[in-house]
Amino acid sequence: MTAITSKVCIVGDFAVGKTSVAERFVNNQFSDKYLTTVGVKVDTKEIDLAERGVQQKLIIWDVAGTDRFGATEFAYLRGASGYIFVADGTRPLTIGSAQKLRDSIAERYGISAAVLLLNKHDLGDRWDVSDKRIEDLKGEFGAVFLTSAKTGAEVEHALTHLANLIVDETLAGRG
Ligand code: GDP
Ligand code: MG
Repeated sequence: MTAITSKVCIVGDFAVGKTSVAERFVNNQFSDKYLTTVGVKVDTKEIDLAERGVQQKLIIWDVAGTDRFGATEFAYLRGASGYIFVADGTRPLTIGSAQKLRDSIAERYGISAAVLLLNKHDLGDRWDVSDKRIEDLKGEFGAVFLTSAKTGAEVEHALTHLANLIVDETLAGRG
C-alpha cells in the first residue's frame, strides 16, 4: 500500500452547498441550517483505493468565498492537489461563478485535477441546467457530477473520481 496525503479545496459561490458536500462526504450527515462559513474549515477523510494499492488521506479545505477571491483566499489554496468546484443547479449564475474561480485559480496556480459538482439535484422542480450545458461543462471542467448533499447522491462518486485523478498525477510525478 502506498500512502498519499493530498490537499483538496472546495470552492464556489455563496450557499451552493460547499460545506454541506464536505459534511456529507466526511461525516455522512446533512443539516438544513445555513451557517455561513467564516474563513476556512478543514476536515480529513481517508479513501481506500485498494484496487490501485493506494490509501489516500484527503485534507479537505472548505474555503469561504463568492465568485471572486482575494489574497487571503488565494493563500488558502496554496499547495492544493485538486479542486472541487461547486455550483447550485437551481441557480445557473453560480455556474458562472465556478467558471470565473476556475479561470483565476488556473492562471495563478495551475489546476491538475478538478471536478465540478452541480449540487442540489434533489430539487428537481427547481433544477435549471440543460443537458447541453452539462455536456459543455464536461468539456471545460473534465468531469461533472449532479450531486445532492441532502440525499448523498453522487457525492462519494465525485470525490472518489477526484481522488483517482490526484493519484494519477502523483504517481506520474513520482515515476
Ligand atoms: P456553502 O455556503 O456553499 O458552504 O453552502 P452550505 O453548505 O452552507 O449550504 C447552503 C444551503 O443550501 C443550506 O441551507 C443547505 O442546507 C442547503 N443545501 C446544501 N446542499 C444541498 C442539497 O444538495 N440539496 C438541498 N435541497 N439543499 C442543500
Ligand atoms: Mg460554507
